[in-house]
Amino acid sequence: MNYKNVKKDITVIGGGLAGVCAAISAARNGKSVSLVQNRGILGGNSSSEIRVWVCGATKHGVNRYARETGIMGELFLENQYRNPDGNPYFWDMLLLEKVKDEKNISLFLNTEVSEIDLIEGEKENKIKSVTGWTIGAETKTKFESEVYLDCSGDGFIGALADAKYNLGRESRYKYNELLAPEKEDKILLGSTILFYTKDAGHPVKFIPPNFAKDISKTSIPKNRVIKSNDSGCCYWWIELGGEVDIVKDNEIIKDELWALVYGIWDYIKNSGNYDADNLTLEWVGSIPGKREYRRFIGDYVLNQNDIIEQTEFDDRIAFGGWSIDLHPEKGIYEESCGSRNIQADGIFHIPFRSTYSVNVSNLMFAGRNISASHIAFGATRVMATCATIGEAVGLAAAMCIEYKIIPRNLYMKHIKKLQQILLRQDGSIIGIKNEDMEDKARSASIMASTSLKKIEVVNSNDELA
Ligand SMILES: Cc1cc2nc3c(=O)[nH]c(=O)nc-3n(C[C@H](O)[C@H](O)[C@H](O)COP(=O)(O)OP(=O)(O)OC[C@H]3O[C@@H](n4cnc5c(N)ncnc54)[C@H](O)[C@@H]3O)c2cc1C
Repeated sequence: MNYKNVKKDITVIGGGLAGVCAAISAARNGKSVSLVQNRGILGGNSSSEIRVWVCGATKHGVNRYARETGIMGELFLENQYRNPDGNPYFWDMLLLEKVKDEKNISLFLNTEVSEIDLIEGEKENKIKSVTGWTIGAETKTKFESEVYLDCSGDGFIGALADAKYNLGRESRYKYNELLAPEKEDKILLGSTILFYTKDAGHPVKFIPPNFAKDISKTSIPKNRVIKSNDSGCCYWWIELGGEVDIVKDNEIIKDELWALVYGIWDYIKNSGNYDADNLTLEWVGSIPGKREYRRFIGDYVLNQNDIIEQTEFDDRIAFGGWSIDLHPEKGIYEESCGSRNIQADGIFHIPFRSTYSVNVSNLMFAGRNISASHIAFGATRVMATCATIGEAVGLAAAMCIEYKIIPRNLYMKHIKKLQQILLRQDGSIIGIKNEDMEDKARSASIMASTSLKKIEVVNSNDELA
């Protein structure tokens, strides 16, 4: 076995969009970063391994002008330019390129962090190091840093550090949330496996595996829309696991999701209800996309009222605009619709205090595991929102190193500075004015060689020449 010891200013665990943006942000602010990802590619749920579409505050046009800026904006723009067809592999490569371009980032792929070395205090713990195992390289690596960012989605690293967290739904009375259940419970949003199809140009038969579920004997065809030409996230409703433990039961959930995917495909191909002779499966996921697990407790827990009332926190560092998107625990087997959406009147804000642990002094988090109630998480969890939180947390971690302080003290002493630097690096904090005297953009003027005289509006129903 090989042993390595890696010392960097900051260790980011988890290479989903939150972790990628956190690592890039910290690196661009001059700090050395270990980015440790247990899969062979970056992107988490947005990667070609899972293929969830990146959504954010615009909520498909509800908040039309609420497009994310900063690093997420950079990724959106570059992807639109290079990848107008939305090829999932091109997206993987874009993320990898962006990370590799940062000389301050050391990337560890296929490396699962599973151990921790902790200094236990009376009130607070401190992480000394975390250790990961690299699959295929028989290598154990110890990562030492001043600050650790748990961007693992499931929040495993924080759990190892005994960071406080919530799992499941809080009671209505805990944060005075009308959408929450009367009593707290362990219900979660379920996991999903997606699939893609293609027209082979000739008839292709499909013999289902023995384990495929016969969905004609279930309520699924009656209660869910199944179309032969749908692919990917159109099947977000193939959801299971809300009533069990999404992590501990992950393998059982995966097997059942496969049975459902192949059962749905059998139904499309062989029920006689669809014109699908030439269609074949092009890709089926092998890793369940997880929606929800631990949500850490920070100095503030974002809740339903903050989303609906659009609370303007003094320490806001990011914004979202997705609806409070709640799914029933029975997932695909729910008789009524697969999700309930409650939309705020516009965008909402995310406070810095929801991004660091209340009881582990050098632990921060970004992504779906931030300090939010189950109801608020229903709105914060979309990936472009996770990414903007990641950028802010990466910068904050860099500032903690610079000032030799813990995140809570950064909040107390330097929150305005954090917000101003975020604005300077093209982040959006809605309602906070750029007052940074050092930001040359404020006194810059723009010139263009040509300009558009007329905007052409094409009706989507018109035929294009
Ligand atoms: C089916 C489905 C549909 C969804 N629909 C949408 C949608 O349409 N649009 C949208 O924007 N969002 C959607 N979401 C939500 C969104 O995908 C998640 O909330 C989001 O991925 C969270 O981002 P993240 O970076 O926090 O976590 P993740 O994307 O989960 O990334 C975390 C990464 O950390 C890695 N990791 C975990 N543990 C370790 C460890 N111990 N060591 C090293 N690495 C580790 C994981 O492998 C993963 O790659 C959907 C989710 C699902 C499952």
